[in-house]
Amino acid sequence: MSQLLDKMNPQQKEAILTTEGPLLVMAGAGSGKTRVLTHRIAYLMSEKQVSPYNILAITFTNKAAREMKERVEKLIGERGKDVWISTFHSMCVRILRRDIDLIGYDLNFGILDDADQLSVIKTVMEDLNLDPKRQSPKYFLSQISNAKNELKTPSDLNKEFENEDVIRVYEKYQQTLFKNNRVDFDDLLMLTVHLFEKHPEVLSFYQNKFQYIHIDEYQDTNHAQYKIVTLLAEKFRNICVVGDSDQSIYSWRGANIENILSFESDYPDASVVLLEQNYRSKQMILNAANDVIKNNSGRRDKQLWSDRGEGEAIEYHRASDGDVEANYIADKIAYMRRDAYDYHDFAVLYRTNSQSRAIEQALLRQNIPYRLVGGQSYFKRKEIKDLMAYLRLICNPDDDLSFVRVVNEPKRGIGAASIDKLSHFAAESELSLMSSIQDATGVVAKATLNKLMDFKTMIYMLRAQIEDHSLASFIDLVLSQTGYLEMLENENTIEADSRIDNLGEFKSMATQFEDVDLDEILAEEESEERADDLPTMTKLIILLNDLMLQTDTETEEEANESKVTLMTIHAAKGLEFPVVFICGFEDGIFPLRSAIEQGADDLEEERRLAYVAITRAEDLLFITNAQSRYQYGMRSANPESMFIREISETYLNKTGIESRPRPSFTLKEAMESKAPKRQIKTVSLNSGSSWNSGDKVEHDTFGEGVVVGVKGEVISIAFSAPHGIKKLMGSHPALKKR
Ligand code: ATP
Ligand code: MG
Repeated sequence: MSQLLDKMNPQQKEAILTTEGPLLVMAGAGSGKTRVLTHRIAYLMSEKQVSPYNILAITFTNKAAREMKERVEKLIGERGKDVWISTFHSMCVRILRRDIDLIGYDLNFGILDDADQLSVIKTVMEDLNLDPKRQSPKYFLSQISNAKNELKTPSDLNKEFENEDVIRVYEKYQQTLFKNNRVDFDDLLMLTVHLFEKHPEVLSFYQNKFQYIHIDEYQDTNHAQYKIVTLLAEKFRNICVVGDSDQSIYSWRGANIENILSFESDYPDASVVLLEQNYRSKQMILNAANDVIKNNSGRRDKQLWSDRGEGEAIEYHRASDGDVEANYIADKIAYMRRDAYDYHDFAVLYRTNSQSRAIEQALLRQNIPYRLVGGQSYFKRKEIKDLMAYLRLICNPDDDLSFVRVVNEPKRGIGAASIDKLSHFAAESELSLMSSIQDATGVVAKATLNKLMDFKTMIYMLRAQIEDHSLASFIDLVLSQTGYLEMLENENTIEADSRIDNLGEFKSMATQFEDVDLDEILAEEESEERADDLPTMTKLIILLNDLMLQTDTETEEEANESKVTLMTIHAAKGLEFPVVFICGFEDGIFPLRSAIEQGADDLEEERRLAYVAITRAEDLLFITNAQSRYQYGMRSANPESMFIREISETYLNKTGIESRPRPSFTLKEAMESKAPKRQIKTVSLNSGSSWNSGDKVEHDTFGEGVVVGVKGEVISIAFSAPHGIKKLMGSHPALKKR
């Protein structure tokens, strides 16, 4: 039998061997779901002679896709390269790149990032006379995003009687994008569905191509993604999805946990495999994870277990203040690095990006190398966005959004007022900004018009030269011809120098893309073309869209350097590290204040997030917080997180300042005996009986209750409403043990 199965437990084997028909693998964190996927793909190729071109695997992040690719290649060799392994968004870009013209867009479409989206929304709001102080642009953006993830067009919203402003903004926003031949991230999914629905021949092509479909982290798919999967799998029905409903953490972005819960009713013939053993973590870590997640309602209870050994108790450190907390983490890392661990074994996880600053400072102070995942993306830097706008405008001179961005960058004496006038004129004549220039006599001042003409000539000159160049040398040409580089050089500041470095970095990336990555993309697509055959402009367009989807820019070399990883918990999904720190474990930070205010549903999602965070750890887990810290420029004090109170004290090793008294647990918790047994003091009573916290009692008047505290003869007992907590003498005859 195949070596591929040797290292798998019986349930995992079953999942790998069940290659035909729908299959659901539902299992807790670290139970080998992702590993099943990679081995299944290798198995299909090596044992079932399935062509790599007929296999699709979808992961949640680019990083996960890269890792899966590497693993598959390790298992099966070079041929593994040809398997289409990507995120939903990258897959859709590739599908649209071939056929988006069928639904009216140009094949050279460009992707819009969130900052650009916001500026389009602002312009649209201005046009519609909507006051951004009354309804924020971000509000509209999120409403539009929700609608798209639900595959709803403006007219669908209309039927549902939505906020009329949202419908108007959505409509106009979408027109603007279409006119500029741009799509946003949500469009990638929605337009793919439109393409499949309106052009069955395209759908049929991909149905025949992807005969074996795999989806990781299925619990976090949204409706549009669900639809894409359903359509693709319709013909062969060989669809394998894996996930864990306890790890659904993207409902704020439209993910719908129902997708995984209803898989069995969507595919009544589905096989279902449950995995129980965790191979990642020591038992103590799993105990803590189990303790937290069991407080969520309506879940199928599953207890994670591992035979990796009991492990150390979880180190819970409460610092006096935020900087002390950060220094504690840095000290621990520096100390542990001396013996067993390397920098890359550590991860520091936090709830929100803004928490990274304090940690970064502490690590810098100790000279500990780190990588920040997420954060301010390289592609959001001004100089990179400017360069990309130039490149886009050269590929598509009618792209008004890029035009506006660079027409006066570097300064060419073309002011905002002139651009405004030109915009009105262009809108009236239904022309793009670039093509309106030639008719704009009298619209703007003569001198400005000449400058606009020069700008246009420059862009068209560059456009005419692109095919004489490689990507990198064309980028050089653009930077020099536009005067952009000279502008930075003249600045002569450290800041400008670093911008120049970043542009150089962009060039290296383009070279790597042209020499290596592009051939891989084409191979996966089963394309006859080779990178060398493609016109430079086509390469450039593929590059620009590819870059828009990347969240990190680490080269392989950088990724191999040993550094501590800093990231949000959302970004850590699916990953594992020998030592994990979770910081800011405070009510108000984690869970977020808004979730505490919103109530049950939001709190449950925060709790799932806590579960994801805890289960990233293999050997050691540290949970930290601070009694007070600077937040939003003010000193504030937060109580310790409710999630730490859910972890049994027997699994915790507490250090740092004395924890403040825990708020007394709720009656419901006490009745269900979930409350931790603190103060386990035994007192002798006259009657000879003794009371402990957690004892269940029966009182003649108050009914059933639970002992929640013992102080000498006096015991505190939690009774059902309306009685609440009563302090009574332990020896009182009305009181009996149950
Ligand atoms: P998550 O829910 O966090 O995504 P997962 O279920 O996808 O977790 P994996 O990441 O696939 O779990 O596996 C967790 C770890 O356990 C990995 O290091 C993996 O290599 C290891 N592992 C899984 N199955 C086995 C096995 N049968 N034998 C040895 N190691 C295993
Ligand atoms: Mg996984």
